[in-house]
Amino acid sequence: EAVLYVVATPIGNLEDMTPRALRVLESVALIAAEDTRHSGRLLSHFNIKTPMIAVHDHNERQQQQKIIEKLQRGDDIALISDAGTPLISDPGFVLVREVRSAGFRVVPLPGCCALIAALCASGVPSDRFAFEGFPPAKSQQRVNFYTALAAENRTLMFYESPHRIIDSLKDIVTAFGADRPIAIARELTKTFETFISGAAAEVLAKVEADPNQRKGEFVLMIEGAPQQDDSLLDPRSSEVLDILLEEL
Ligand code: SAM
Repeated sequence: EAVLYVVATPIGNLEDMTPRALRVLESVALIAAEDTRHSGRLLSHFNIKTPMIAVHDHNERQQQQKIIEKLQRGDDIALISDAGTPLISDPGFVLVREVRSAGFRVVPLPGCCALIAALCASGVPSDRFAFEGFPPAKSQQRVNFYTALAAENRTLMFYESPHRIIDSLKDIVTAFGADRPIAIARELTKTFETFISGAAAEVLAKVEADPNQRKGEFVLMIEGAPQQDDSLLDPRSSEVLDILLEEL
């Protein structure tokens, strides 16, 4: 019975490629990659010559038919993305669901994931967390998005682009308050890996003060609001609720 392997690849440091991932990528009939040129560099580094097809957000539904036909012929297939774990702010969800409902096995090969790498080394509470993907690109939408999360008790995690990191941090100060503890993890597993943590306003000031801190790839983390047992809503949540109700 043919298998679709969902294979994590490095997020910067090629030493994070696992022996199992290398073996599977070598042995499958086809690799479905988000960007075949990008993944071509990774595969040629490891001297893997398996053919690739592109599966990205814009053609996932068309390509899934081809992939299911290949599986029906008995060919194993591996899904990879540009970096890290497929499906995590990356394509693959539609494909995995369809392949499963067509009755095939889907096997994960775990490895790098920027949000997990960030969480396990930043010093923010890691017992309960919510990953919210990329915040909206437009400022007003982003403020609303953050404001709606201000009362959340779990650690909040986001991916953010270097072009928006300053604006996003400013919006975090607005929505969560200057004192909310936050952390950023930059360039994980790479040469300039950096962690900055502290009150939201302090972290913003540090990133504003040093242009190098605005480069590369980022994971943003916001500690959850303190648990309030004695009232239904804490003052900040009531404030947020008022703002949201005004917008309705
Ligand atoms: N699938 C990937 C994963 O498992 O982490 C994430 C893909 S998403 C399109 C890319 C975003 O992940 C980047 O914009 C950044 O926010 C985050 N990211 C990826 N690699 C990173 C790294 N080395 N350091 C920090 N953040 C990273």
